[in-house]
Amino acid sequence: GCTTGGGGGTEITPGTAPGFPPFEFKNDDNELVGFDIDLLEAVVGETDYTLGSWEELEFSSLIPGLQNDRIDVIAAAMTITEDRDETIDFSDPYYNADQSILVASGGDFSPSSLDDLEGRRLGAQEGTTGESVIQSELIESGQVSESNYNAYGSYVLAVEDLINGNIDAIVIDQPVAQTFASQRDVDIAFTYETGERYGFGVRTDDDDLQEALNSGLATVQDNGTYEEIRNEWFSS
Ligand code: GLN
Repeated sequence: GCTTGGGGGTEITPGTAPGFPPFEFKNDDNELVGFDIDLLEAVVGETDYTLGSWEELEFSSLIPGLQNDRIDVIAAAMTITEDRDETIDFSDPYYNADQSILVASGGDFSPSSLDDLEGRRLGAQEGTTGESVIQSELIESGQVSESNYNAYGSYVLAVEDLINGNIDAIVIDQPVAQTFASQRDVDIAFTYETGERYGFGVRTDDDDLQEALNSGLATVQDNGTYEEIRNEWFSS
């Protein structure tokens, strides 16, 4: 929860879900790093708030963690969706993404549309928009049975299962798919346009924090800091 420290402003506890490179992940020294980490630190640095130490949760525990005051702000490449907007509030958007379909490298499965995923074993991280695509586009239509969908606590585990051949494809945010494809034996088969936008999540009664984050975000976008951070974590 929020506490008022001496000197600085109100301290806020940020929460994230590592294993989502380059937005938030553990480096070789087991430190939490990434685009979201640097961006939130820069944004909060422009406000009267002070950033406390990061809490690491599973993605599906972030909104509950916000609601029960374990954390005060979510920075986890979280897409602003209507469903989520009913329970929490979001800052202005800070990054755009679509969903990519990842397959194992060197296999004989190379889908080019969602229809090609019919009857396949699919994986996603629990509670994500990738999971929503599988549910709304493939399970509801009966093309994929519920039992052929594996929900993982982390996309890192889903990628392991994909490489081991336990599933045929993963649905995951495009920038993260690209990062996994550059590091592991997986390839982007195709990208499905969803037009998602990421925002920082705050409690619905935290209007002051929401406004401060929006003005901090505008400042770092105007003064070049946003671009510096983006260039550091994204090569293209
Ligand atoms: N952007 C996706 C979502 O909001 C995935 C986020 C994540 O896995 N960290 O559901």
